[in-house]
Amino acid sequence: MLQIKYDDEFKNLINEPICDFWKLKEDIPDNVIEFITDISNSIVIKTYDNFLYCSRCVNKLDENNICSICGKNYSETVNNPKYINIIADINDIRYFPYTIHYYVFDIKGNDVILYIIKESIYYNNPTTVKPYKTSEIIINKAYKINKNGMYELISNKYYSFDEIDKFIYDDESNNFALDNELNDYIDFKFIYTDNIDMLKNTVYKYSHIWDAKEYLNECEICVGNIVYSPIHLKQFEYLIKHKLYNLALDDSYLLKYENKYKEFFNNDKYLNFMIENNLDNKEFNALTMCKRTDMSLIKFISEKLYYIEKILEIQKINLVELKKYFDSQNLSNEYLVEYLDYLSIAKKLGLDIKDKKILYPDNLFDAHDKLYTEITILEDPSINKDISKLSSLLELNVYEDDKYIIIPASSIESLVDESTQQQNCVRTYSKRYSNNDVQIYFMRKKEDITKSFVTIEVQNGKIIQARTKLNELPSSDVNLVLKKWEKQIIPVINE
Ligand SMILES: [Zn+2]
Repeated sequence: MLQIKYDDEFKNLINEPICDFWKLKEDIPDNVIEFITDISNSIVIKTYDNFLYCSRCVNKLDENNICSICGKNYSETVNNPKYINIIADINDIRYFPYTIHYYVFDIKGNDVILYIIKESIYYNNPTTVKPYKTSEIIINKAYKINKNGMYELISNKYYSFDEIDKFIYDDESNNFALDNELNDYIDFKFIYTDNIDMLKNTVYKYSHIWDAKEYLNECEICVGNIVYSPIHLKQFEYLIKHKLYNLALDDSYLLKYENKYKEFFNNDKYLNFMIENNLDNKEFNALTMCKRTDMSLIKFISEKLYYIEKILEIQKINLVELKKYFDSQNLSNEYLVEYLDYLSIAKKLGLDIKDKKILYPDNLFDAHDKLYTEITILEDPSINKDISKLSSLLELNVYEDDKYIIIPASSIESLVDESTQQQNCVRTYSKRYSNNDVQIYFMRKKEDITKSFVTIEVQNGKIIQARTKLNELPSSDVNLVLKKWEKQIIPVINE
């Protein structure tokens, strides 16, 4: 049978045999169904309180990771994030069904077809005591692939690689359709690799993607990195042959960095380092920024690439020195966000940020707090005066017993200090506090009145929030004291 359709360039109408491809679940070969069932039955449900559940029976696993109802042993997947479905609460599972995508290659005549099979998993009526899983399998996409592009047989849409090039090169283009086609934003994605060797005699012949078979099971799969990159990007073969699987497969947009490649790939020192550590795209980016073959420095940068880039926009700082400074302060790269904040305030205040004393203060947090206070006052000089006036009125609500004392915040400095000690955002309340829109009190233990204990927000004589360090809730003993104090609060209202 023939059908009239467009050619692969989407220019001319041609007669072509109807491409016979899998359309229904029933068309999928048994070995692939087996692969799907195996994965579907290996997903573990993990709740926020760290309990593990069988995803088929929604039954809590025993200490050996075995489900007492179906007998399934989850030992192989409980530690593999690729197989873990994290949910807040086990009751959520019924309201938040999940989806798995399976990528499967097949060859039909001279054509390579890539199927994306979609499994949607649901749980039964939430009112039932014992929920059970039901799943629906459909052929979501079927891409017929040639050297110029890919033709999606279900939607009849053609995507040329040239069009994709334009999309990737051009930062301005907001081609969401193409982005959705290249990447798919599904949590669970698996690729069937048992038959990947058969790609050797196809349009994939130069890609050597089969060499990365083991690695394909671990990496983040998307159409971009298993269709566009292997067939269309020259460097894909090069990267695979050097066993740089992370770079080849983790990010189909690596073409963007083509110019950066030359300097690093032509240099044996860098190339060997990259191969040895199988650098991924972020790590490679970090290498191009610091030009050091030091994996701890590379990790320091690559894990927080966004903040590092923002810091470099403010000041072309030496990243080796920055890492040394963080090490000397005993700080992990988690605190780069504080450093970025510090540096941007220092710049706003017109400080000489080329000066090492400013760049690397003796204590990052003290320096940050000092500058934060300074800029808040500078931006609105009335705030501190207003806070001081209000806090002297609020003195009438000071509480004291044998153990605790509750006092109003008296200045921006005190808010900033509380914020740093408690790791909360009370420092950002200074303007609202100065207007008496909220009132801020500190509960402290009398044994050390300078040490933060509970930060309290009051409105109209009622406690709106009371939080200990890291926004935790106070203990019930402390809550009793707070309740008692709340009854005595005299609201101070703007006249
Ligand atoms: Zn089970």
